Amino acid sequence: MDKPISVYIHIPFCKTRCNYCDFNTFTGMESFIAPYLASVKEEIRNCVISMEINQPVHSIYLGGGTPSLLSPEQIRELIQTVRDHFFVTRDAEITMEMNPGDLLPEKTMMLRSTGVNRVSLGMQSAINEELKCMGRRHSVEQTLDTYHRLREAGFDNINLDLIFGYPGQTMESWRYSLEKAMELEPDHISLYALSVEKGTPLESQILSGSLKALPDDTVADMYDSACEMMKEHRYIHYEISNWSRTHQTESRHNKQYWYIEPYLGFGSGAHSYFSHVRIKNVSSIEEYIERINFNRPWENTYPAAEEIIALSELTEMKDVVIFGLRLLQEGVNPTKFKERFGLNLEDIFHYQLKKLLANGYVYYNQEGNLVLNEKYAFVSNQIFLEFV
Ligand code: SF4
Repeated sequence: MDKPISVYIHIPFCKTRCNYCDFNTFTGMESFIAPYLASVKEEIRNCVISMEINQPVHSIYLGGGTPSLLSPEQIRELIQTVRDHFFVTRDAEITMEMNPGDLLPEKTMMLRSTGVNRVSLGMQSAINEELKCMGRRHSVEQTLDTYHRLREAGFDNINLDLIFGYPGQTMESWRYSLEKAMELEPDHISLYALSVEKGTPLESQILSGSLKALPDDTVADMYDSACEMMKEHRYIHYEISNWSRTHQTESRHNKQYWYIEPYLGFGSGAHSYFSHVRIKNVSSIEEYIERINFNRPWENTYPAAEEIIALSELTEMKDVVIFGLRLLQEGVNPTKFKERFGLNLEDIFHYQLKKLLANGYVYYNQEGNLVLNEKYAFVSNQIFLEFV
């Protein structure tokens, strides 16, 4: 059977904008939700027909934005559209990102029946003042309430997202948030270091002096401290920013990205990687709808694309190494590398590997895979520069 692919669906709507966010998402555009969803379904239909895709789909991810703004019925229809046009495997992982508090009690059970079997909940912090500072519209109480209701509804694969390094956070408050998150015993935890993005309210707050960015050393200490705490609670640190209770609950969808295996993204601003080509859709909701509906999609393989890049083999090899090293346990398997590219990892990256191995940044583990020294996980981007 052909290797499985993954499907991503972008929902670019949010009720309010968080202060740190530079994602492709929009507020005050709820009236576009219905035509947008109709366009996404059309894009899926068109893609399957024009690209003649036969591979099974083993993960679907509804990300955003805020997919939890959609009704269970709208979510069910999106998933059904994927099922109608692809062969979705029986055990497919179907994830939905959720903002705590969005799901009304009576809708929780309905969500379970849409096919979603994994929820990624944007907890971010267990301290209300910090949530307020981030511009989040939910409270800690809503996180706890949503989490427990999801469990009661039978969701047995829940991820919690938390942010560290936010201005005003302290080591103590960070450890408190993490402790509270782990008390819930989620199946998966993602911990993201804050990145101050251009043009965000957070950047203005820092530039104006109303908030003070934390020193890099403090943020690095927060990461180290989190690694220790997660270890004490027996979570598997399988990717730089991701921990899982068991190997079964590691994010299959995200691993598709880290393995550099094909995925199709639908919706405005969505990215795809397929047949050695990277595609990015237009970001604007209006332009996306316009392109899908009036761009003669039946004549165009990528009707909503604003960028199509054919990747060289060397670029793909670099990506396999960079993203593979993010997987702290698995790393890069030299045998699989040779099977995929017909070339030896050591021959292609001879100089880079010689330097990184000599400095102890990477090493070969017992299975013979090239892995990143966990000590350097937090500064891995500097190490990966060697391959750029
Ligand atoms: S909910 Fe997520 S996507 Fe929406 S503004 Fe906040 S961080 Fe951005």
